[in-house]
Amino acid sequence: MMLSRARKLIFAVFFTSIAIAVYSQPFTANDTYFTALFLYWLFSSLYSHLRVVDKTKSNIPVDYGINYSLSFAIFAGPLGLFIFEALFRLTEHITKKWLKTAEPDEWLHTIYNIGSFVTFNSLAFYLYHLLYPFFDRIPFGFWLLLFLLIVIVSLLTDIGLIIVFHIVGDIRTWQEAIDFIKTRSWFDMGKASLTNGLLLIFLEEKRWGMLISLFLLNYFVSRSFFSKSQSIQHKIERDQFEKMAYTDFLTGVHNRAFMDKKIAELNQTNEWMSVVVADIDNFKKINDTYNHAVGDQVIRHFASTLQRFLNKDDFLFRSGGEEFTIFLRNRTFEESVQLVETILQAIRESVVYVEYEAEERLISYTSSFGLYFFQTGGHVSIEKAYVYADQLLLQSKNCGKNRVSVKYEGTA
Ligand code: GH3
Ligand code: MG
Ligand code: MG
Repeated sequence: MMLSRARKLIFAVFFTSIAIAVYSQPFTANDTYFTALFLYWLFSSLYSHLRVVDKTKSNIPVDYGINYSLSFAIFAGPLGLFIFEALFRLTEHITKKWLKTAEPDEWLHTIYNIGSFVTFNSLAFYLYHLLYPFFDRIPFGFWLLLFLLIVIVSLLTDIGLIIVFHIVGDIRTWQEAIDFIKTRSWFDMGKASLTNGLLLIFLEEKRWGMLISLFLLNYFVSRSFFSKSQSIQHKIERDQFEKMAYTDFLTGVHNRAFMDKKIAELNQTNEWMSVVVADIDNFKKINDTYNHAVGDQVIRHFASTLQRFLNKDDFLFRSGGEEFTIFLRNRTFEESVQLVETILQAIRESVVYVEYEAEERLISYTSSFGLYFFQTGGHVSIEKAYVYADQLLLQSKNCGKNRVSVKYEGTA
């Protein structure tokens, strides 16, 4: 039902464009016209694969490519324009089918594009001839007029699309319609009016070299922006994947893979730091008394408490089930030990609120630490420091847990 209403509208626009073309003043089909037709067709087709299709807003594909139709309309009139649009849009259609990038109802898009571009730009053609005498009297009148026409054609094109998208249900509210129009930029319209203005001047003076140069300039500029925007997009995706690959899903802190990466990096430096290994005491009991999900919440609480005490240059990794590793940096040995003592106390005094058997429970727990302070890039690798810190943790466990055992590199 809705689709058939959209179809009716699309055909109405299409037949309007045919009517305008047929009843307009016939144009002279001379060499100039055919040369222009060929060049416009060639460069519009070349250009069409550079269009950035924005599907971010309500899944509506909208092209933001520059459009050369206005200058062709003013130069050739509605019928001449119709021939150009039909030729160009059909080429585009066949290319999309060939490349298998066509939408399921691609022919409706094609019909609509021909219809709307011919109708709106024909209107611009009549407005141009109507208004030119007035604009001719003011400075930069020609350019102002072209800008005005571009704005009118853009607005009408958007309104046409909004009506179609409203019928098929992709646009529902006024806000969505306004947002759709807002995606137009003044810069793009400025670019379109300058380009079409220059093209029109070159056409009328038959300066084909200049015309081709301008087409090429536009093509090269867009081409370079296009590849830039693509490589930026790829970099964003790469960064997201990298971030995911280095993040622990349960706690959101860095994972073991990131720890290995950082170890390799920091082994190359020459700084004093502490490797701290932290482990929850009697964690099995929490898992057994409650369940795994409650255990997970305690692990999360432990991670976020540790994180809270760290600076931005420190690193926190989840190195095992309920075991975390910390690289404390830019601190003396005494400051590092003091910090771990503070964390120990904070954990000891905190409670975790969990839901268990439909009731809120309070869980308190303790933790044990091993701290090894050393200089990177010396006799002790970070891997080795990690083994030492783990032995110190074991020492804390054996001495009754809920404590930190420490060692300063080279001391007994
Ligand atoms: P200790 O005081 O000596 O550290 O005793 P513990 O009970 O904490 O012993 P241990 O560190 O060996 O136990 C770790 C347990 O943590 C074993 C494992 O079932 C559990 N565990 C490991 N990963 C997860 C996890 O992701 N979620 C939960 N809920 N439990 C985990
Ligand atoms: Mg434990
Ligand atoms: Mg453990």
